[in-house]
Amino acid sequence: MSIRRPQGTQDFLPRQTVYWQYMEKKIRDLCRVCGYEEIRTPVFEATELFQRGVGAATDIVNKEMFTFEDKGGRSLTLRPEGTASVARAYAENKLYGQTPPWKLYYLAPMFRHEKPQAGRFHQFHQFGAEALGTSDPLADAEIIWLAWTLGAKLGLKGLSLRLNSVGCPVCRPGHIAALSAFLRPLAGELCEDCRARLDKNPLRVLDCKKESCQKATANAPALPGSLCPDCREHFAAARSYLEAMDIPYQLDERLVRGLDYYCKTAFEILAPGLGAQNAVCGGGRYDGLVQEIGGPPSPGVGFALGLERLLGALAEQGAALPVSGPPCYVLATLGETARRRGAALAAELRAAGFTVLMDLQGRTLKSQLKLADRKQAAFTLILGEDELERGAALVRDMRTGEQREIPLAELARAMEDMT
Ligand SMILES: [Zn+2]
Ligand SMILES: [Zn+2]
Repeated sequence: MSIRRPQGTQDFLPRQTVYWQYMEKKIRDLCRVCGYEEIRTPVFEATELFQRGVGAATDIVNKEMFTFEDKGGRSLTLRPEGTASVARAYAENKLYGQTPPWKLYYLAPMFRHEKPQAGRFHQFHQFGAEALGTSDPLADAEIIWLAWTLGAKLGLKGLSLRLNSVGCPVCRPGHIAALSAFLRPLAGELCEDCRARLDKNPLRVLDCKKESCQKATANAPALPGSLCPDCREHFAAARSYLEAMDIPYQLDERLVRGLDYYCKTAFEILAPGLGAQNAVCGGGRYDGLVQEIGGPPSPGVGFALGLERLLGALAEQGAALPVSGPPCYVLATLGETARRRGAALAAELRAAGFTVLMDLQGRTLKSQLKLADRKQAAFTLILGEDELERGAALVRDMRTGEQREIPLAELARAMEDMT
């Protein structure tokens, strides 16, 4: 029986990885100009990190984690998201002691055991950026600018930004109490999930996409009304920076985000074609997270963006990702002596930075030339017995069909001129 890849995983073949590489380059370039540096954390972590850092009441922790025991009986989990790991690394490496803020980003696979459906995978990939050690509202605006600008740079059209403030430990308890008091008499009208949320996380009831729940909660008390002066001031400043940077946003009082550690700024970026439930990017401020996982109190703000979703949105919009590398040369040889000399020549040219392909199946010269067509080579270098005797190669321009003989000693220089 043939072995197949596990459910919910994908193979990315070369025709796809060129797009991933293109997207990843855009991301890295953008992070660099914003002063974000890359961090790489382990693929698995102690399960407790996610229970505390993501929240025991969330779907991610309750239903979707790949958890296993190591040989010593310790519970480990394949990371379902990146922020908890970055916060752990920040605390564990005592980065808070070294002139914060730290502006970090990751590009990494994540693992969630979600119901298989279109566009959802058990292994998927996220780009995330986190600014740790700063509560400055300009950091919030900067992080939103980064996420927003990436979509624009990749050619994504019709993006919209939804923005809210979800309060802080000072003002949120009062809001949650008011919300609970409002929701409790309506329990009968809410879906099963929302009835469970009533006790654990009533804020999330506002986020439910079921029509019956949205209807029942239409007049629920809104968060912005109960913000404390500190949260109000922070939100106003973040908005003024966004306006100064010309980023359009829509206020959305029902935007609460799924994770417990968010506070103050919360945002989502939506792309048309993915549906209202399907933000391409979500993020916000999480001032309580580092402390929650055992570090010192350290504010932070960040976002995560699903790369499969981003590519999906680009495909949906028919955006062509320009992928063009340097021209490729096919080196065709006739006879074993020429092949050996050709191998040496290819090595020399590759060391000089040229992309040179040789036949690896012992094909005839005619078939080797077909390889040049298939690989869309710009030039073919032909090395036969006659050329070899003269110490030269025949160079054919594949677009014009023109060919000329060039001495091997001058080949690299001539190729430089041709490209
Ligand atoms: Zn507050
Ligand atoms: Zn519901």
